[in-house]
Amino acid sequence: MHPEDPIKKHTRLVKTQESTLKKIGLNTIKDVLFYFPNRYVKTSGGKSVVELNNGDKMVLTGEIYNIKKEVSWKNRIPMTRAKFKDTTGVIELVWLHQPYISKMLKDGQNITISGNISVKSNKKTIINPDVLKNNDEIHNDLFSENKDIKITSLPIYPETKGLNAKWFYYIIQKSLNAGAHKNIKETLPKEILEKYHLPKLESAILWMHIPRNDDDATAARKRFAFEEILNIEIERLRARDEYQGHGAYKINPEVKEFLKSLPYKLTVGQKNVLDDIIKDCAKNIPMTRLLEGDVGSGKTAIAATIAYGTVNTPSDKKNEYLQVLYMAPTEILANQHFESFCQMFAPFNKTIGLITSSGCKKFPAKSVSLKRLDIGWTPVSRAQLLKWAKDGTIDILIGTHSLMNKSVVMRHPALAIIDEQHRFGAKQRRALITKDGFAPHLLSMTATPIPRTLALTIFGDLDLSLLTDMPPGRKPIISKFISKGMRETMYKEAVEQLKQSRQGYVICPRINDKDESIDLENNKNRLPIKTSVGGGKRSVVEEAKRLTKKEFAGYKVGILHGKMKPNEKEDIMEKFLRKEIDVLVATSVVEVGVNIPNASFIIIEEAERFGVAQLHQLRGRVIRGNHQSYCYFLSDTESEKSGKRIMSLVESKNGFELAEADLMERGPGHFAGLKQSGISDLAMEALRNIRLVEAAKKEARNILDTDPELKNYPAIKERLSRTDKLIHFE
Ligand code: ADP
Ligand code: MG
Repeated sequence: MHPEDPIKKHTRLVKTQESTLKKIGLNTIKDVLFYFPNRYVKTSGGKSVVELNNGDKMVLTGEIYNIKKEVSWKNRIPMTRAKFKDTTGVIELVWLHQPYISKMLKDGQNITISGNISVKSNKKTIINPDVLKNNDEIHNDLFSENKDIKITSLPIYPETKGLNAKWFYYIIQKSLNAGAHKNIKETLPKEILEKYHLPKLESAILWMHIPRNDDDATAARKRFAFEEILNIEIERLRARDEYQGHGAYKINPEVKEFLKSLPYKLTVGQKNVLDDIIKDCAKNIPMTRLLEGDVGSGKTAIAATIAYGTVNTPSDKKNEYLQVLYMAPTEILANQHFESFCQMFAPFNKTIGLITSSGCKKFPAKSVSLKRLDIGWTPVSRAQLLKWAKDGTIDILIGTHSLMNKSVVMRHPALAIIDEQHRFGAKQRRALITKDGFAPHLLSMTATPIPRTLALTIFGDLDLSLLTDMPPGRKPIISKFISKGMRETMYKEAVEQLKQSRQGYVICPRINDKDESIDLENNKNRLPIKTSVGGGKRSVVEEAKRLTKKEFAGYKVGILHGKMKPNEKEDIMEKFLRKEIDVLVATSVVEVGVNIPNASFIIIEEAERFGVAQLHQLRGRVIRGNHQSYCYFLSDTESEKSGKRIMSLVESKNGFELAEADLMERGPGHFAGLKQSGISDLAMEALRNIRLVEAAKKEARNILDTDPELKNYPAIKERLSRTDKLIHFE
C-alpha cells in the first residue's frame, strides 16, 4: 500500500463518505494516517481478567467460546451469550436484543472486546460489549519485534457525516498493517529530532494511532505539535524577512520639540518603547513592531511622537516630507484619533486628513500659512483628499480599513500605524509596499493582552514591545462582582456618580429581546446561561427602556449597537462625548478604544458570557480620566469556573497576567481569531507550552538563516506550501 494511494483504492466508499472525505480534505492513505484520534480509551493495559474490577471500562483481548443464542425466560428478550477468557480468568458476555451476534462469531476465535465490567458475587460480566475484530492480529504484526508489549489505549477518532470512529479505525489499522506509514518521508531534520528527543515520523504516526503506553502518545503528539509550530514560525519569519527585504525611509529621530509640547512627561515605559521604535525607524530596513499595552497606558502618545519624527523628515524630493498612515479599527476611533492628532499637531504646521465612509476631513481648515490653533478642520471631498495624499500635501492620513483601498496612494508613505487589528497580516502588509519597492515602517498597537506563546508564533513576524506601566495619577479602578441581591446597591453607587456629573456604560450581550444570537463573536462555545441577575435576559433596547423608567429616571439614556449605521453610531458617540447622554447602554461594540474620559462606571450584564480578555477591555473604557472609576461585573452564574474567571478580574489588574491565565484555563482557541487560523487542535494545545514554542522559534530562525530558500529542507518546504494556504491570520 502506498501512502499516495487514493483511499478508495483500499476500501469501498459510499457516496456520502466520498463527499465527506473530499470536504475535509482527505484524499490519500497518507491523509488518513495524519487524521489523528482526539482521545484514547484505556485498554486493559496488561491487566488480566482476574484483576478486573467492577466499573472498569476496558479493551480486552482473548478467546471467545460457548457462544449461544438465548431468550431470557423473564422478559422474553432475545440475546447472545458467550464466555470469554484469557489465561487468568473468565468473563460472561451478553448481547441483549442481538441474537445475530451468535452467527458472526465462532467458538475458539481470538477477539478484542471493549465495554464496562460489572462484578457481582465474583462473577464478571460485560453487557453489550463492542467487538473489535482482528484487532490483535494487526497489533501483533505491528509490534512483531516486540511481541510482549500490550496495547493499552484504543484510539477514538473524531466523527463526521458518514464516517464514524470505527470507519477511521478500520482504514487506518489497515494502512498501518500494510506498512504505508513506513513509506512516508521524514519531514524533520535529523538533528532536530535528536536534539529534542522527538520520535521519527514513522514511529510518531504509529504511536498516534496505536500507542503502547501514555508516553508513546505524548511523544508523538509533541513531535507533531513541534513540527506544526516550527512551520508556523518559519512561515512567519519568512513573511518578516520578505517585508524587511524592502527598503525603508530613514526617519529623523529628532522628536524633542514634540515631547516638550505634550502636557505631560512620558513614563519610563513609554520612553523605553519609544527608544526601541526610534532606533528601528532610523534604519533603512522597515520596522515590524507590535506595541502591546493596556488601555490607557499611553500608546497613542508614542505613535504620535514617531509620527512627528516622520513628518519632519525630508524626503529625497525637494521640500517634500515623509508621510504617515494611521489605521483605526472603527470610524468612531478614526475620528477620535483625528481629533487628538489635530490637537497634538496644531503647533507644528502639519496637515492631517481623515478618510471615512461618512465623510472626509482636513486639518487645518484653511490655508496652510495661517496661525491655526483655533481653526479646526473642514470637510473635504474624498477625491480632493486622495489627491492631496498622493501629491504629499497631507502629512498624516487617518482612516479605517478603507485606507487599504487601492485608490489610496501616498507620495512618501514612511510609517504605518495600525491600531487594534489582529487580522492585519502578511497580505495586508504587502499592500503597503510602494511601487518603487519601499515598505513603510510598521507599528502595530494592541490593548489585547497577548500571551507570550502567541506573541512568538501567531505574531512571530513582529518584534514585541510591552508597555507595562500606567501614566501617573491614575486611580486604580474599583472592580466588583455583583451577584444576586446586590443590584440595588450598585445602582445607588452609579446614580451617585451621575449626580457628580459623571457618565457610565451598561453593557448587554444582546441587541433586543428577539436577538437570540448573542452578539459576541468569540463566545460561540460558551454554554447558554438561562437568566441573569434578577431574572430575564438583558438586551440593549429593553434594558435602556427599563433603566430610563427606573434606576436612571431623570437621566438621559442612549443606546449603541453593531446593527446601527456608522453615522448613527458616530452621532451617539459624539452626543455621549458632549455629555448629551449620561448613560450609554451598548453591546460590546464599545470594546475597542473609545475614549470618553468623563465616563466613570461600567456595568457589565451577564459577565460570564464574555472572555476574560474581553471583560478586561470593556473595563478599560472607564480608566481614562483622573477620577475614581468603577466596574461592575454582574453574574448569577452557578458555574464555579465562570465565577473564578470573574473573580480573577476583580483581583488582578494586569492584562498580561489575565491573558496567561486565560490561555492556561481555556486554551488558545478562545483568543480572538485563532479558531479560524487553520491551526490544528494539537498545535493549539502546545501553544500553552512556552519552552516548546521558544525552541521551535529558535530552530526556525536557524533554518532560515542557514538556508533561506529551504533547499536542504524539501519536506519542510513542501509542508509549508500546504500549510501556507491554511494558516492565514489575516
Ligand atoms: P492607549 O492608546 O494606550 O489606550 P492613550 O494614548 O489614549 O492610551 O492615553 C490615555 C490617556 O493618557 C490620554 O488622555 C493621554 O493624554 C494620557 N497620557 C498618555 N501618556 C501620559 C503620560 N505619560 N502622563 C500622563 N498622561 C498621559
Ligand atoms: Mg489607543
